[in-house]
Amino acid sequence: MPTILVTNDDGIFSEGIKLLAKELSSLGRVVVVAPDREQSASGHSLTLHRPLRMRKIEDDWYTVDGTPTDCVSLAVMALLKDDPPDLIVSGINFGLNLGDDVTYSGTVSAAFEGSLLGIPSVAFSQEIGEHFSFARGADFARRLATTLLAASLPAGLLLNVNFPCEEFTGVEWTRLGHRRYVQSVVEKTDPRGRKYFWIAGTPEWEDEAGTDHAALSQRKVTLTPLHLDLTDYDVLEGCCDVRRQIEEAALTWVE
Ligand code: MN
Repeated sequence: MPTILVTNDDGIFSEGIKLLAKELSSLGRVVVVAPDREQSASGHSLTLHRPLRMRKIEDDWYTVDGTPTDCVSLAVMALLKDDPPDLIVSGINFGLNLGDDVTYSGTVSAAFEGSLLGIPSVAFSQEIGEHFSFARGADFARRLATTLLAASLPAGLLLNVNFPCEEFTGVEWTRLGHRRYVQSVVEKTDPRGRKYFWIAGTPEWEDEAGTDHAALSQRKVTLTPLHLDLTDYDVLEGCCDVRRQIEEAALTWVE
């Protein structure tokens, strides 16, 4: 019987994680280890400066007073060290995690951590809007997990999955889309006369074919395979002038 680790960044009391865990429970042992409060936009943050506490709230349900990455680390390297998970799933997040936003996302970062630990990992996120429901996504997640558990997978496979709000019209393999710059920091004055800032704004996306955003706007479920190698191979392999300029200049920096 496979073991499936479930986590998220919305916290253990979110509807998305409850439905996801419930759907997956027909496939094997489901162990939930999730933050004890909302950790959205925590990115790939790891807690190193204080001890972490794991609290059991019922059989195979645990909270951690840390980030989604902490949850995956504690689950794989402590709680489940004798029975490592066959699959890690994160979500279902309340809100999309598309394109350039994936590095802010705690949901996706939990899956990044799973992938780094060599375990196939999937992040699930649900669009918010009219006809909102986690049910369609949870059903899709169970079918996808069934397929993944039966397949032979590349080591550290990482999938970022987004669900549209309306009835799904299809499924598409996509690449990450890019956000356009939009004014997104509000600057105001507090009652004591001091300036404060609030990061806000709704992202606008380039609507290029083949991207997650473009497919989602056609109400398709998007499957984006990711990896954590952030190397820019174009620059590394010498495509641009600045590389040569730095090389020439750097000769004198290390004399
Ligand atoms: Mn979230």
